[in-house]
Amino acid sequence: MSGFDGKNFIGGSWRPAASGRTFEQRNPAFLHEITGTFADSSPADADSAIAAAQAAFPAWRALSSLARKAYLDRALRAMIARRDEIAAVITRENGKALREARGEVDSAIKEMDYQIAEGVRLCGQTVPVEVAGTLAYSTREALGPVAIVTPWNFPFNVPCRKCTPALMGGNTVVLKPASLTPRTGLLFTELLAESGLPPGVINCITGAGGSVGAALVGDARIKAVSFTGSTPVGKSIQLAAAKNLTPAQLELGGKNPAIVLPDADLDVAVAEIVRGAFACSGQWCTSTSRVIVLEEIADELTKRLVAAAQALAVRDGTAEDCGMGPVCGAKQKADILGWIAKGRDEGARLLTGGAALAGEDYDNGCFIAPTVFDRVTPAMAIAREEIFGPVLAIITVRTFEEAVEVANDVAYGLSSSIFTNDLKRALTYMERAEVGLAHVNLMTALKEPQLSFGGVKQSGAGLPEAGSSGIEFFTQHKVCYVKYR
Ligand code: NAP
Repeated sequence: MSGFDGKNFIGGSWRPAASGRTFEQRNPAFLHEITGTFADSSPADADSAIAAAQAAFPAWRALSSLARKAYLDRALRAMIARRDEIAAVITRENGKALREARGEVDSAIKEMDYQIAEGVRLCGQTVPVEVAGTLAYSTREALGPVAIVTPWNFPFNVPCRKCTPALMGGNTVVLKPASLTPRTGLLFTELLAESGLPPGVINCITGAGGSVGAALVGDARIKAVSFTGSTPVGKSIQLAAAKNLTPAQLELGGKNPAIVLPDADLDVAVAEIVRGAFACSGQWCTSTSRVIVLEEIADELTKRLVAAAQALAVRDGTAEDCGMGPVCGAKQKADILGWIAKGRDEGARLLTGGAALAGEDYDNGCFIAPTVFDRVTPAMAIAREEIFGPVLAIITVRTFEEAVEVANDVAYGLSSSIFTNDLKRALTYMERAEVGLAHVNLMTALKEPQLSFGGVKQSGAGLPEAGSSGIEFFTQHKVCYVKYR
């Protein structure tokens, strides 16, 4: 139990949902273990949280960015000090290996550090103009109360990546974390609250996305919506926000390819593809889900990928030797097994995995064996739809041209990789890849906080997160002309 069990954080205090209702969540490695009881909020709670954020906005906006930095620096220091405790909460709620959970907190620390600095550099422009005796400049201003809606796969880093630039930009925030991982979102909120942020600057409400989340993003008092999650929910949020002309930042699903050319260093390709496909049980939006390989090396690459997948020890995330943890919940497990069945029905060849794991260590959890299919064609559902689980589809092609065509021939456009030492082909692919992130000889999931992070096509809309666009999204430009002579 902690201070926030069963509670939302609204206007500087922890309080139950207006209805008094709560919901439970469970550890995906041990489904009999309850991870907590959380406020089952309704639109009435969204209304209170927005009102609190709106009331806090004028004073928070009026602070200098250096004053805002002082609060967030305190939260950052607490995050560093409590890193292992936060990671343990992530593993218990999400299932990922502790090593991966610590990596998530470390990424959040770097993102926060970078976005605090971006907020201090909140610069406009000063330019010479034609009208004599006139000073012309632009400034960047806060928007107002903003809504941040986040998924369960990075339950700490995504709230951090979004809330830091929102707050540094002078906005107040209502955060709605995913229902599978509310404790991690509340813990992030607690870190901010304990930095002494004035009441109402950060608010956090838990509960069903379709109810409290929809009420939040459709409210006219909300001046920007930043969402990470699935493409269908992202589209509904875009529509709700558009009714109020509210800008939306949408980071959505992916179907990320790794192309492997015959001249590639196969040791590098296998290591990067296996990490990209099976880290966090394939539940990164940037996970590698398709390998597109030229026929000359298809057999050798396939053999090595299968061996590497089989070598992963599937365990509860707290086990020292955990190579891959469970998937995040019972529904996710059932959905992934459904995609695997579809792959078999459509005629793909199952090379390894393909089933839930059974036995004493697995029966109470959401464990699926790392799965590899080959003889996948680009038209099959497992080659086109986001599975969001530990399933890799190998597609064999004849030429580089065909590989690029297959890589681009999906609705999504988040991330991609090519493995080759041929500079001409590598750069040609960088030019032609229809994605927001493209990599050469690196896994599809690599990202750094200094650069923007976001997809194209059905993988994203609006200004991307992180880098300099992270804070750009949370501010508006004002242009001023001052005739002084
Ligand atoms: P999701 O089902 O779309 O949910 C995301 C968040 O939206 C949750 O907090 C959810 O609340 C809330 N929500 C659901 N319906 C809503 C509605 N009608 N209005 C407002 N909010 C609503 O996604 P997920 O299953 O949590 O996450 C997995 C997806 O996220 C995958 O598709 C993955 O690719 C994507 N993702 C993308 C990125 C990226 O940067 N591109 C990063 C990470 C994940 P509940 O939990 O209560 O339903």
